[in-house]
Amino acid sequence: MPFKNLQLFEPILRGIQSAGYTDPTPIQLRAIPVVLAGGDLIGSAQTGTGKTAAFALPILSKLGRHQLQPRVLVLEPTRELAAQVDTAFRDFARYTDLRTVAVFGGVGYGRQRAELRRGVDVITATPGRLMDYIKDGMINLRDIQVLVLDEVDRMLDMGFLPIVKEIIVRCSRERQTLFFSATVPPEIQSIASFALRQPTRVEIEVNRYVNQSINHAIYPVAFSQKSDLLVALLATTDFDSVLVFCRTKHGSDKIAHKLKNANHTVAVLHANRSQNQRIEALAGFKSGKYKVMVATDIAARGIDVAGVTHVINYDVPENSEDYVHRTGRTGRAQAMGDAFTLVTPENSGNIRNIQRFIGKKIPELRLDGFEYQPLAPRLSKPSRKSGLRQHQLRGGGPGQRR
Ligand code: AMP
Repeated sequence: MPFKNLQLFEPILRGIQSAGYTDPTPIQLRAIPVVLAGGDLIGSAQTGTGKTAAFALPILSKLGRHQLQPRVLVLEPTRELAAQVDTAFRDFARYTDLRTVAVFGGVGYGRQRAELRRGVDVITATPGRLMDYIKDGMINLRDIQVLVLDEVDRMLDMGFLPIVKEIIVRCSRERQTLFFSATVPPEIQSIASFALRQPTRVEIEVNRYVNQSINHAIYPVAFSQKSDLLVALLATTDFDSVLVFCRTKHGSDKIAHKLKNANHTVAVLHANRSQNQRIEALAGFKSGKYKVMVATDIAARGIDVAGVTHVINYDVPENSEDYVHRTGRTGRAQAMGDAFTLVTPENSGNIRNIQRFIGKKIPELRLDGFEYQPLAPRLSKPSRKSGLRQHQLRGGGPGQRR
């Protein structure tokens, strides 16, 4: 079914056209009618499925003309996501007079205050900075008609739930609430029961869904050779842009340094960097100024960068869900991507959990020509016939052009 059959406001349909979308994604097909009809919704869908447009398009369609009081509030766990979602709203609303603002910490108050004073229809915010404006009377939530709680599981991880609850109670009781979380553990279920009224459930991919357009591979390696293997992998892989995930901020800095020495253009994204550094890193990665971005999980969650051809887990994520989120940064919107994970014997338990979680065995590869230490670990016995496969991935393997 094309977008035009979904009863969206005509100027929004033009915004969709300008964005270059032709057909709705599955979550858009299912969520848009529910949101237009005014119902509450609980959606479990990963980023990369078109989730943002699934709520932004019907919300904007219902708003009509610009008014001075904010009528829509979207809560996001990170500054980058807040900025990204605000940009999506702004793009879809380009043929209307509706105004939007992104409100997040780490930058000055001046511009955000000026925008708020002019009057905005949609606020996309991280909880902390939003609360600052609520407390000093700059933002009042009593006219909020639609509240979107996005990436709630990540807000839980980041300790935001108490403040999120405070924000919910300040919104009008007559509001519509849209709630998105990849998983719904008990704490999240309790906040859902608290915030939502008779929600429609929309599950697009089950929690363990792994994007089918990604090739996954594991590279077993000794701990002492990890960074050398990373450098060798990058040297032999034909990538457009690659996202490297590390467990710690310090580790990210170290790896970034090493990759710079290997002549890569490298951006670093983690929570210890200033907001301006984070903005510069992300913008530079998006524009292609940096071909490599080294990041921790918190900073990179949900980030939508077109054309990420490779994700490399320098450190195996401890949490299996994070594996899905990290690798979901590639293979977005129908493009293909590769996801490599360096695994030391110490992490073999984690990788087994991940395979169980995603319900799929990830092939183990060895990089041809790399001088593995004699005791390079093998995570499972290779079959006698084939041994470990050499690095030969569809499209993205070393030396192969995509
Ligand atoms: P999201 O899940 O909201 O992070 O969206 C993932 C990516 O899919 C973004 O780059 C969107 O611009 C893109 N996208 C969303 N909806 C569509 C659509 N209907 N057609 C094509 N691309 C889309």
